[in-house]
Amino acid sequence: MNGVRPTKIERLGESELKVTWSDGQVRIYSCAELRDRCPCATCREKRSAGPPAPTDLPVLSAAEARPLRIEGMKPVGNYAYSIAFSDGHNTGIYTLELLRELGRAE
Ligand SMILES: [Zn+2]
Repeated sequence: MNGVRPTKIERLGESELKVTWSDGQVRIYSCAELRDRCPCATCREKRSAGPPAPTDLPVLSAAEARPLRIEGMKPVGNYAYSIAFSDGHNTGIYTLELLRELGRAE
């Protein structure tokens, strides 16, 4: 995994992302998967709290109720990318290792 990094990042329709890696691998990511796996402290805490009770009705903000999209992705140092989602969340730092685990190989 040493030195393997994205060489090309493209939008695939509204809800998917296609990343070409320097070793030739192409991976497809859904926005929902990336958002679900957001590594920031707030999201990690939410996940470890477990799923809400089935009777809890989640209250979604207007932005959350719209289909999720990726607004932008920018490199953080040379080891990670930060991803900004259309629901306004942009604090997740996705390391290259994590990005290689997520998504599916094309
Ligand atoms: Zn997060």
